[in-house]
Amino acid sequence: MPDCRFDTYYRYADLVQILRDYASKYPRLIQLESIGKSHEGRDIWVTVLTDRQTGADHSRPALWVDGNIHAAELVGSSACLYLIDWLCRGFESNPEIGRCLQERVFYICPRANPDGAEWALADRPRIIRSSTRPYPYDELPQGGLVMEDMDGDGRLLSMRIPDPNGHWKICPDEPRLLVPREPAETGGQYYRLLPEGRVEDYDGSLIRLQEKRERLDLNRNFPVLWREEHEQAGAGPFPASEPEVRAIVNFITGHPNICGGIAFHSYSGVLLRPYSYQADDTLPAEDLWTYQKIGAKGSALTGYPAVSAHDEFRYHPKQVITGALDDWLYEHRGVFAWTVEIWSPQRQAGIEHYKYIDWYREHPLEDDLKMLRWSDQQLQGKGYVDWYRFDHPQLGEIELGGWDPLFSFWNPPPAQLEQEISRFPEWVMWHNLISPRLVIHRAQAQDLGGGLYRIGLLVQNTGWLPSYVTKKAREKSLTRGVICEIELPAGITLHSGLRRIELAQLEGRAYKPSSPTGWAGQVSDPTDDRVKAEWVVHAPQGGQIKLSARHERAGTATTTLTL
Ligand SMILES: [Zn+2]
Repeated sequence: MPDCRFDTYYRYADLVQILRDYASKYPRLIQLESIGKSHEGRDIWVTVLTDRQTGADHSRPALWVDGNIHAAELVGSSACLYLIDWLCRGFESNPEIGRCLQERVFYICPRANPDGAEWALADRPRIIRSSTRPYPYDELPQGGLVMEDMDGDGRLLSMRIPDPNGHWKICPDEPRLLVPREPAETGGQYYRLLPEGRVEDYDGSLIRLQEKRERLDLNRNFPVLWREEHEQAGAGPFPASEPEVRAIVNFITGHPNICGGIAFHSYSGVLLRPYSYQADDTLPAEDLWTYQKIGAKGSALTGYPAVSAHDEFRYHPKQVITGALDDWLYEHRGVFAWTVEIWSPQRQAGIEHYKYIDWYREHPLEDDLKMLRWSDQQLQGKGYVDWYRFDHPQLGEIELGGWDPLFSFWNPPPAQLEQEISRFPEWVMWHNLISPRLVIHRAQAQDLGGGLYRIGLLVQNTGWLPSYVTKKAREKSLTRGVICEIELPAGITLHSGLRRIELAQLEGRAYKPSSPTGWAGQVSDPTDDRVKAEWVVHAPQGGQIKLSARHERAGTATTTLTL
């Protein structure tokens, strides 16, 4: 198998070949499953990763991981591929990985939006937010400026046009940079700044930006507080209307063993958690505390801060987003889920404590100088391009230059890709290892005489999280308790008890106090991680009985007793 490289971004055909190669190299660990087709008919692949020699995936707790639902956020796919590689390679050499894959499952969807990513990876990239399905209108838009690589060098830069009423001027300290003209300033050399592109039906005076025909945002289309176009643009005609989103929603609801989720996006270098649309005090307190603990571990292992999307990552202080995957996973599936915004060019450039989205509205010139130095030194000048003359078919002689954002801002440059995506596997595995896991603690038969036996099955949760995972799930009764069953061969009959018994949820250690000190240490039952099922059977000739215990989230365990 040609090694999957982590200094390059793969188009769909190569990516699928890589996944097939992993599946054939590691047949014990990987099964590939198409969960549906994209708008253009490409298969959306999920890698089912677990040690299949010791059990089936659906009988084990699982973690969902996806990437690249936004078209240009290609690094999300790379992070998924890196995770697959890390787990497969480490299965035999790293005992933690070995244990994780023997007990648990990863469902990894490296490219949730294959059509949109293909446009971003084209020789002449076309950048859209998400999928390539025209929305909300079918017809081709007309007039205005269409972002396009005009000189065919594969970059999408900016165009500057001299204009006495322009907003920008050349920075006195660094002539490659532009800075805003002062509020009362006049009489200098000023510029208008436009994205690189062609201007349709140009009348020589007004230029508007042409709206794209493809205006969907798949991460607003999930069925959680979905809102119509006039309230939230790009959310689609109805919840889960888009084939890519429907495939994910179908798969996740069809796999109740999923106990958590991580969606890889770019960029900002931050671990975002729900809610996107309301403040932290609306979460059940235990869920907030647990989210904070998972986030603290994430920060320690990845170096990224962990924050609430609502509190620290709003695109506008007066607006919120709804219909995102992590909010849906938390609110309607009742599991802990994250949006990981990979890569921070600002931090790479040495800018500390920048406030994500707010930085784009306002930041000191000193930050721009740091960014420019970073491009010069770390990106060999490929991030920020000095202005050069270009004869534009509609605008005449102009200049092209500025940031080429696709592999500087939006995604790590290929040379820095591996280092960036190697941050995540440890935390992703840890997130899977904290899920509830049901095991049989004891199974026994007590001879009562006269051919009667009392059968006892004691099961317990060995995971950190309780079997229901979140208080939200418990509040909404999203998951049943433990179900114990007894299977009897011919000649053995049930004397008392039901064949199938539904018992309580199993607690974990997550919601217990951090220290045994004080009264808080004694508020819960000391064995609330266990339940017991009992039957009395009539087995005059003896024989074998099969016992099983299962929980939708915590997995399945079986055993046999010989009487
Ligand atoms: Zn995104």
